[in-house]
Amino acid sequence: MQTVVEKGSSERLVMVRYGELFLKSEPVKHHFIGLLLRNIGKALSASGLHSHSETPRGRILIFGNEPEKIADIVSRIFGIIDVSICTKTSSHIDDLCAGAIALASARLSAGMSFAVRAKRQQKTGLDSQVLGARIGSAIYEHIPGLIVDLDHPDYEVFVEVRDFGGLVYDSRITAPGGLPSGTQGRTLVLLSSGIDSPVASWLAMKRGCECTHLHLDGGRWAGSDVKTAAIENHKRLSRWCAGNPLMLVIANSEPLYDRMQEFHIPPRYRCVICKRFMLQVAARLMEHEGASAIITGENLGQVASQTLANLSVISDGVTVPVLRPLITYDKEEIITIARRIGTFDTHPGDLACRAVPRMPATAAILEAILECEQKIDIDTIITQACTELQYVTALNSEIVQGT
Ligand code: ATP
Ligand code: MG
Repeated sequence: MQTVVEKGSSERLVMVRYGELFLKSEPVKHHFIGLLLRNIGKALSASGLHSHSETPRGRILIFGNEPEKIADIVSRIFGIIDVSICTKTSSHIDDLCAGAIALASARLSAGMSFAVRAKRQQKTGLDSQVLGARIGSAIYEHIPGLIVDLDHPDYEVFVEVRDFGGLVYDSRITAPGGLPSGTQGRTLVLLSSGIDSPVASWLAMKRGCECTHLHLDGGRWAGSDVKTAAIENHKRLSRWCAGNPLMLVIANSEPLYDRMQEFHIPPRYRCVICKRFMLQVAARLMEHEGASAIITGENLGQVASQTLANLSVISDGVTVPVLRPLITYDKEEIITIARRIGTFDTHPGDLACRAVPRMPATAAILEAILECEQKIDIDTIITQACTELQYVTALNSEIVQGT
C-alpha cells in the first residue's frame, strides 16, 4: 500500500525503475519483484542502512535516511535500469511547483535553459502539458533570466503525478539492467586472473544468475601473481551482489602440467587439454555447488586455443551446458565493460602461463587429444583436483573468509 501524501508535506526518497520485468506475466512479475525487493533489502542492510519500500505500479520507492547512499548501492543491483533521488509531494499543483523550484534553484542560474517533463498516471486533474507549463512558469518566475528550451535544455526537471501524490526529480543514475539475482539459478564460473572471465561472470549475474567462482591454480606453472589476481577479481565482483556472500573455489591444476611434461604430450595440445580439464573439474563440482551450467570467458578467435574447431573439442569433454557470454565480443567491448564494472586494473605482475607453447594447435583432433589424456590418466588428476579444495568468501568487496 502507498501512503497518500498530505498537501504541504514532502519527503525525499529513491525511485527505482525496472526494465524487462515489465514484459513478464503478472505472477512472474510479482515473483521477480519480490526477489528484487529482497536483493535491495539485503544490499542496504549489509551497509547498515535502514529502509522500507513501496511498490506503486512500475516503480519501487525506497524510503530511508540517506537517499544518496541508498541510490549509490541500489544502482548496482541487477534488474534495475535506473535510479532517481526524488522529492515526494502531494499532487497539488502548488506542492509540485515548490518541489520543482527547490531542485531547480540548486542547479539553474540566469542565462541557462531548462525544460519541465511532466506526466500523470490518472486521467483526472491537469493534463501533462498544462502541468508542465504551470510548473515551468513557476520556475521561470522564481529564477530570473532563464530560457525555456524544450529540445536541448541545459537542465531538465521531471514531474510524475501518481495516485498517491507527485514525484519530482532532476537526475537519473544508470543501473545495470538485466534480471534480479536469483531468478535464473546458479552457475559455476571459471574465473582466471584475466580480463575476460570477470566480465563473463558479471554478464551471467546481470541475467539473474547467482554465481560461484572456480579458479584452477597452476602452481609453479602459473605466473607468481595469478592466484592473487584471480582472488582480486573475485573480491571486486562481490561488489555486484552486495549483501550476498560470493564463493570462490580454488582447485589445484599443477599436476596436470607436470604429467603433460612427464609424458611428453606434444606442447601444441596443452591449451586444449588444459581447458577440457578445467571444464571437467567444473562439471564434477557443479552438483556440490548447486550449479546447473558452467560459464567461461572464452571468445571466438581471441587466442589460438579458441578457434571454433578447438572450442568444439573442448566442449566435448563434458555433457553439462557450457555458456560463453563473450563468444562474439570484440576485445575492446570486453575492456569497456571491465572498466565500467571495476575489474580492469586488477592485473599487475607476473600473470603468464608457463605451459602455453609457442604454437598451440588451432584445430586439435579429438582422437589425438583423447589419446594424450589417456596417457596422463587425466581422470585421476581430475579426481585429485576435486578433493583438495580451498574456499574463499567475498562479501561487499572484502574477503571475509579463506585466505
Ligand atoms: P581471461 O580469458 O579471463 O582474460 P585468460 O586470458 O588468462 O583469462 P584464456 O586462456 O583466455 O584465459 O582462457 C579462457 C577461459 O578459460 C577464461 O576466460 C576462463 O573462463 C577460463 N580460465 C582460464 N584460466 C583459468 C584458471 N586458471 N582458472 C579458471 N578458469 C580459467
Ligand atoms: Mg581470455
